[in-house]
Amino acid sequence: MTEDGAPAEVWQRISDAGISLLRIPTPFQVGRVNTYLLEDEPLTLIDSGPNSGKALDELERQLEALGHGIEELELVAVTHQHIDHLGLVDIVAKRSGAEVAALDQLAPFLENFGADAERDDAEAASLMRRHGISEEVVSALRQVTGSFRAWGSRAEVTRPLHDGEVLELRDRRLEVQHRPGHSPSDTLLWDSDRSLLIAGDHLIKHISSNPLISRPLDGSGGRTQALVVYLESLKRTRELPAEIVLSGHGEPITNHVTLIDERFAMHQRRAQKLYGLIVEEPRTGHELAQALWGDVAVTQAFLTLSEVIGHVDLLVNAGYVREIEDGDVLRYEATSDAPADQLGDLIPGGNPVLSRG
Ligand SMILES: [Zn+2]
Repeated sequence: MTEDGAPAEVWQRISDAGISLLRIPTPFQVGRVNTYLLEDEPLTLIDSGPNSGKALDELERQLEALGHGIEELELVAVTHQHIDHLGLVDIVAKRSGAEVAALDQLAPFLENFGADAERDDAEAASLMRRHGISEEVVSALRQVTGSFRAWGSRAEVTRPLHDGEVLELRDRRLEVQHRPGHSPSDTLLWDSDRSLLIAGDHLIKHISSNPLISRPLDGSGGRTQALVVYLESLKRTRELPAEIVLSGHGEPITNHVTLIDERFAMHQRRAQKLYGLIVEEPRTGHELAQALWGDVAVTQAFLTLSEVIGHVDLLVNAGYVREIEDGDVLRYEATSDAPADQLGDLIPGGNPVLSRG
């Protein structure tokens, strides 16, 4: 197995670990999703691809090329709650009788997929209104996400995974690590014997994982500070002596510490840029997104708002910015007139290079 970018010896190590990559098409901008077959006992599939005939055909064809049928699968593990990763889990589990493993806190969401996804959309809509996005865009986006939901599916979790436990297969021990941020349920599988981390979308080589604002998994209302939570998770991943990281999209990562440091620096810069815009005048989240990216496609409205709010959370937490009520919307106002390039480290302990400087 070879692929542009990653050296042949990396692919050799992955293959020696009994792991094969299956790249399943999705209808989303992100392109194909990576699923992984672990030749082990039980025969295990990590993630499944979205719920579509095309994805199912591809999954079948690629499994066949590896000498297996869907019917042979014995365990399907889910890395997180996004539909490009879990849409086919139910079909695969029903056809094979495989166990379904997922983070314990994710199980209720998977079992109530339709209703919980609907509640997510309702929360997202009120958040968007609160941050100044027009009703027109909010309702257009709700239609889009409503139709996207068909690529997801409910699934019954028969093997709940607890943070810190070890999932034992015949040939490997995978430590379960709950590292929320990209989504509230991001779950890593750490093979310390092989220094190999299966990371889902927690860390992706060619794109920074968008910390999407979501409802907490425990069903409580409000929102989590998704980027703050994500950066805390990244700090913990940075400490792992991982030599190979297998992601939910794109190529294997062999330099995760460097990559994570680049991400910290990028988030610091982006927060500073937003601070500069807020110092000019108080702005809503939507106005900040427009100032950064112009008029974005309707489908990107929530994504870019999540990006903005995540970074402004860093500024609010550090005391440089405060929220002010303006009618029905929330505006951000600077509490300092320090120049943007002289803000302190907004990600404490996150980036050794920045903290030394
Ligand atoms: Zn994904």
